[in-house]
Amino acid sequence: MSAVRDAQGGVAFVSCIMRDVTEKLRAERHIEHLATTDTLTGLANRNALLQKMADAVARAARTRGQLAVMFIDLDKFKAVNDTLGHAAGDTLLRECAQGLTSCVREVDVVARLGGDEFMVLLNDAPNAATVATVADRMLKLLTAPYRLSGHDAFTSASIGICFFPGDGKDVIALMKNADIAMYDAKELGRNNYQFFAEEMNQRMVRRAQLERELRAALENQEFVLHFQPQVSVASGAIQGTESLIRWRHPRRGLLAPGEFITLAEETGLIVPMGVWILNEACRTIKSWRARGVQVPYVVVNVSAVQLSESLVDTVRQAIADSSIEPGWLMLEITETMLMQRVEEAIAILQHIRKQGVRIAMDDFGTGYSSLSVLQRLPIDTLKIDRSFVAAIDNPADSARACAIVGAIVAIAKELHLDVVAEGVETAAQLAYLRRLNCETYQGYIYSKPVDAAALERLFEAPEATLDTA
Ligand code: C2E
Ligand code: CA
Ligand code: CA
Repeated sequence: MSAVRDAQGGVAFVSCIMRDVTEKLRAERHIEHLATTDTLTGLANRNALLQKMADAVARAARTRGQLAVMFIDLDKFKAVNDTLGHAAGDTLLRECAQGLTSCVREVDVVARLGGDEFMVLLNDAPNAATVATVADRMLKLLTAPYRLSGHDAFTSASIGICFFPGDGKDVIALMKNADIAMYDAKELGRNNYQFFAEEMNQRMVRRAQLERELRAALENQEFVLHFQPQVSVASGAIQGTESLIRWRHPRRGLLAPGEFITLAEETGLIVPMGVWILNEACRTIKSWRARGVQVPYVVVNVSAVQLSESLVDTVRQAIADSSIEPGWLMLEITETMLMQRVEEAIAILQHIRKQGVRIAMDDFGTGYSSLSVLQRLPIDTLKIDRSFVAAIDNPADSARACAIVGAIVAIAKELHLDVVAEGVETAAQLAYLRRLNCETYQGYIYSKPVDAAALERLFEAPEATLDTA
């Protein structure tokens, strides 16, 4: 307001300006809401959570209180999105948000970090048992079936839990350790909760170390292929050989794939590794052939992660670069992997097979092939899983194992597929395979996987090496 004066200096009148700020305040509050709320679920978002956690940590530090932080990740959420659509995925996330909120008190914080990741902050968590009860309730609620776009959908969650001040003194450490514990819950088969333990942290550190080394290993050419012969049951002649990767670790010596393949798959490193493996296998074939060592074929193991259209080109390129016959190469894929993505796998394998490369199904009997799918798969060979072959010798299991191996051989013959029994270790196992007329076997009884030079010697003079095997 301001006074307007007349000529004598007296106040003639007062001018007054008014502005309605309702809209401005509303907008500010709306912006504040947007900045702190997850729009899909109405929960606190990451920013708000960080702020509230910082406050809670400061308060708990003053009062010597204990807080619990829970990292909740839905299991296989992607499958819901992929099969039922994103709208259904969104509904599921909203339902989960409600479920989680109903498990905690008003003073606690439930936040969505993004995707299918939630975090819960329990203010004043007196002990692990109370938190475990909350986690149990959450798991029970989250595993209930959801009605999504007319389908019953199921989900479950993996929960990692850590405490302030025991497992971390600040927000960053708490978030990280809850995440590590959640990862552990995933590894332990999902649908469970785990408390953070320092030993987990060390495992993660080792894992990170292994990942760094694995990346370097590819550049430093520390990988090498070993070869295990596939042998004719009837004649004992080497029919072909399977290539199996080894890592010449600079400090830990020769490592078997069990120590690093899973990590390579999880990190995607298996893709460049797989390119190297294919090329190395083709180069080996070439070098054997160049010296008259005519090993009929070499098998290369392919991981599900590699199974994409680009594999078709990788195979074509590897064959062209080393100028070998496609028929000298065979790819091997496990039954479980094939069954996970049947239609896609069929298309890709057909393209590869059209080039003249053969395909084998590895670890047959451990997955869930239906006979109708089996008939449609573009494969040439079934490989009987090692566990069935081993059980032939086990008195308690022998009858069942013999029946299964017999059935697989019969199915293979019916579908005009070759059949290879792997993991043959004893004369009794070999004798049984002979009775079944199983054509080919592979196993320690003939030879362990050996390097390329040793395989060459085996091939040239099989009898001599048989004695020492
Ligand atoms: P797999 O493809 O089922 O390979 C057979 C495994 O059985 C090999 O283990 C082999 O050494 C072992 N084995 C062979 N004969 C016998 C036997 O008589 N008794 C017993 N107990 N074992 C036998 P390895 O070399 O440790 O390979 C393990 C797995 O790692 C392979 O299983 C395969 O899944 C994977 N792998 C190996 N090399 C590669 C590769 O180049 N690429 C990919 N993607 N995976 C690979
Ligand atoms: Ca294999
Ligand atoms: Ca196998």
